[in-house]
Amino acid sequence: MSDCIFCRIVAGEIPSQKVFEDEDLLAFKDIRPLAPVHVLVIPKKHIATLFDVSDADAPLLGRIMRKVPQIAAEQGADEGFRTIVNTGRMGGQEVYHLHVHIIGGAALPAMIKY
Ligand code: AMP
Ligand code: ZN
Repeated sequence: MSDCIFCRIVAGEIPSQKVFEDEDLLAFKDIRPLAPVHVLVIPKKHIATLFDVSDADAPLLGRIMRKVPQIAAEQGADEGFRTIVNTGRMGGQEVYHLHVHIIGGAALPAMIKY
């Protein structure tokens, strides 16, 4: 999807600070970090939201979640981190390409309040 900012990052049309990449996944630093570690993990395939995930995507989502703690630890959040998947308008989703936030590197309850 050429109008999707994260598809454009996957395609290399927009620069990003990549921290992990393989055939199916890409992880890069969030441009507006909320904590010392703030990485987004995305499928390279365009999936707009969690609502749009199909049964066929289940292995892909499993791979993302398997990769999340590895990336978190590599980035320095080896004592714990928070994952967030904002979904849809009421979930505060800004970019409509599925992404998992990894947020950590500091004691989170002091920084992010719900
Ligand atoms: P959300 O859709 O609300 O879960 O959040 C989208 C996230 O994408 C925000 O935290 C933005 O800071 C981040 N973001 C938007 N554009 C870029 C970009 N070009 N590179 C890295 N992160 C981005
Ligand atoms: Zn996309």
